[in-house]
Amino acid sequence: MTAKNDGERVMSTILQLPKYSIGVGDRFAHQSKAQLLACQRSLEAGVLITPVWNKSNREHLIIGSEPSQTRAAADAAVKALSWTGPYFVDADHINLKTADRFLAPCDFFTMDVAEDIGRLAAADTIDAFVGRHRELIGQFSIPGINQPFNIDESFVRRAAGTFLAAVQQAGRIYRDLAAKRGDGTFIPEISMDETDLPQTPPELLVILAAIADEKIPIQTIAPKFTGRFNKGVDYVGDLRQFAKEFREDVATIAFAIERYGLPRNLKLSIHSGSDKYSIYPAIREGIREFDAGIHLKTAGTTWLEEVIGLAESGGEGLALAKEIYAEAYTHAAELCAPYATVIDIDRPNLPMPTTVDAWTSEQFVRALRHDGNRDPQFNPNLRQLLHVGFKVAAKMGRRFTGALEANEVIISRNVTINLFERHIRPIFLA
Ligand SMILES: [Zn+2]
Repeated sequence: MTAKNDGERVMSTILQLPKYSIGVGDRFAHQSKAQLLACQRSLEAGVLITPVWNKSNREHLIIGSEPSQTRAAADAAVKALSWTGPYFVDADHINLKTADRFLAPCDFFTMDVAEDIGRLAAADTIDAFVGRHRELIGQFSIPGINQPFNIDESFVRRAAGTFLAAVQQAGRIYRDLAAKRGDGTFIPEISMDETDLPQTPPELLVILAAIADEKIPIQTIAPKFTGRFNKGVDYVGDLRQFAKEFREDVATIAFAIERYGLPRNLKLSIHSGSDKYSIYPAIREGIREFDAGIHLKTAGTTWLEEVIGLAESGGEGLALAKEIYAEAYTHAAELCAPYATVIDIDRPNLPMPTTVDAWTSEQFVRALRHDGNRDPQFNPNLRQLLHVGFKVAAKMGRRFTGALEANEVIISRNVTINLFERHIRPIFLA
């Protein structure tokens, strides 16, 4: 395979992520079947959505689980439902230090280099980058973006100063993984989402040029978008600005694939993508316009459906859901700390545990279930707190997982409906 401008295509990838895929987090490894059922339903409706079971190192540490358990749950679900399509297990947000225990069970690696953004690369490597990429300087157009870009050398130098060290770090992680696992045996993703500022299209182009230089056969990239992507609740930000940024990022990726010989299936990955109902129309339109793929990561939304299912079950299930809330409320500061940049909890609007204690099943479910902000009883503060509160359930151990098993029918119905109706349908089937 040869690329138009840059000689050889970075690499002919062997393992390929299909066009549409969804990251399904399964914190307690009990809902893989219910999640896969959502993909099976979309296949029946004519669209292949490839499931990717993603679980970050942070989640494994908080829960005390092993990546091999995620693999076992995924394999078991695939077998139980006779799923013949592709599926993957994602080592989500790993780096050089944390990758090892993911090597055998995972075939998708999200290399998190957000920490290295802004760390200045060695001056000679910045000079070399600017010297090698004169095509980035001057006026140029990206097909699909109306305004031409007018970029001067100082912009490229500045962008390289911000992002080159991060991409070089991704190169180190990729080569380490490839040496231990073998080229083409896994899907590489680079994530830059957990950082403060969104990346503009010219910056994304600089990043993709640097990724091609590092010869990383990247298949998905997670940039930072404008606005807040808070856990488990809707997007907060300027919808028109997001739509503009999203379609420009899609256009930029298509352009970079041609220009730098990056893998043809390279696509955007949206992190904290669950529950962002208000931007799904813009995502749907953007990928349709450019005939592009998308990877949507959802993680904690499934764990919240577990709590909803417990509450809906009434009796002991409801009592356990209330206990989890009360514990989360008591330890809110500690639970929220690792997620500070991705939650916005208005403390005075969290109900007191004594109030919640008196709730019926319906009251609890309505406060927690996120169905497009339609229900006036919905409480996004309670939902975000429970989203980051899975540590409480992890500490309960068998008491919690036993309750999941005892109430499997109700819980799995909630898990499947949530993924299929609220996430897959509006983006891929509408
Ligand atoms: Zn992420």
